[in-house]
Amino acid sequence: PSWFDQAHFIPPDAIFALTAQYVADTFLQKVNLGQGTYRDENGNPWVLPSVRKSREILSQKLYHEYLPIVGLASFRQEAAKLALGPELFAKQQDKLATCQSLSGTGALHLAGLLLRAGRTSRPKIYIPEPTWSNHHQVFASLGFQCETFQYYNPETKDLDIDSYYAALKAAEPNSVVIIHACAHNPTGCDPSKEQWRELAGIFKERQLFPLFDAAYLGFNSGNVDNDAFAIRLFIEETKLEAGVCLSFAKNMGLYGERVGCFLLATSTEDTAVKTQSMLEMLQRSEVSNPPAYGAKIASTILGDDTLRQAWHDDLTTMSDRIRSMRRALYDRLVSSGKRSDNNPGRTTLTRSAGAPGSWEHLIRQSGMFGFLGLSPDIVLKLREQYHIYMAGNSRISIAGLNEQNVAYVGDSITECLK
Ligand code: PMP
Repeated sequence: PSWFDQAHFIPPDAIFALTAQYVADTFLQKVNLGQGTYRDENGNPWVLPSVRKSREILSQKLYHEYLPIVGLASFRQEAAKLALGPELFAKQQDKLATCQSLSGTGALHLAGLLLRAGRTSRPKIYIPEPTWSNHHQVFASLGFQCETFQYYNPETKDLDIDSYYAALKAAEPNSVVIIHACAHNPTGCDPSKEQWRELAGIFKERQLFPLFDAAYLGFNSGNVDNDAFAIRLFIEETKLEAGVCLSFAKNMGLYGERVGCFLLATSTEDTAVKTQSMLEMLQRSEVSNPPAYGAKIASTILGDDTLRQAWHDDLTTMSDRIRSMRRALYDRLVSSGKRSDNNPGRTTLTRSAGAPGSWEHLIRQSGMFGFLGLSPDIVLKLREQYHIYMAGNSRISIAGLNEQNVAYVGDSITECLK
């Protein structure tokens, strides 16, 4: 008998399992569009030049002491300045609680701990459907009751804003709502500025707490200010208290360093002092203090004008390449292409009409992902017969595309759909 007799088996995380399957595949033309990690034009991981430079600077003065419990002070300050912009940061500074976290996931978890500890009754958490696969786990594991609302309409292949509005209006007051600050994962559909304004108004009216998941600031459009629009609108114009979960995994390529930050914009200095002290206690009991290296890399970049500019250039490089690959896949899907036949002795020169259906949704979307709208059997066929790996819901990580494989991917999808 085991002490764990009542334990049950939990299936492996789908996207990490998919990566393992891809790695084990020996087919030469295999394509990984699964995990959302940036790849350069040759399909290789990319160390940002600004990060490389920051590492060089750090290597001369690196030491390995503990950080304070709430993390590196300069990093927390720079992270808050980045998300809020210098002017709002200056105004909000004294009403801000911040805590360095284990990347974006850790920031969400810390937010959950604080939201749970900060009130006598546990709030409900409203989560868009679909969403990043870990949201439910993070909050359910903290004992929250998670409610979903329809965010996306599979018919129109677009944001379902009416259902979003209706869900907020029907939500229990004093609940928490998870908001993707930009580049909604997996759909790539974000509200327009007008829709953000409308949403902020409903949050205010219904007394809902906005918890921004901001894993793609700067990575989405190439411009941090654009990508932080909603965060700043809610805090500055609508004067809402809000939580912001920052990750530097994607926008600095620091996936493995686990560098993130939780920011809480409160409405009084007193609340900021109290919540800051709670974050310190919660962090202490979870991880004691956060890892140092990534935070040092990030704060060195953000705190230096030249390096920050170099990082902005890196953001442009990444987001431009993703945008151009999105366009290249779209072009391949909608137009005819010449395609050599695998069968020697018989060459098919033309492929006329392109893939069936409309693909406008692909270029309407933004961010790292394309949400194709393929059925699970097509996704499976692409994996098993074409060695093209994507999430089960047909989300593709566009960064996995490049000039060498985009035609193959487009043509394979077309073939599967015909
Ligand atoms: N939220 C969303 C929506 C994400 O896509 C991700 C990254 N996949 C994260 C949070 C957090 O990732 P990390 O913990 O690696 O920063």
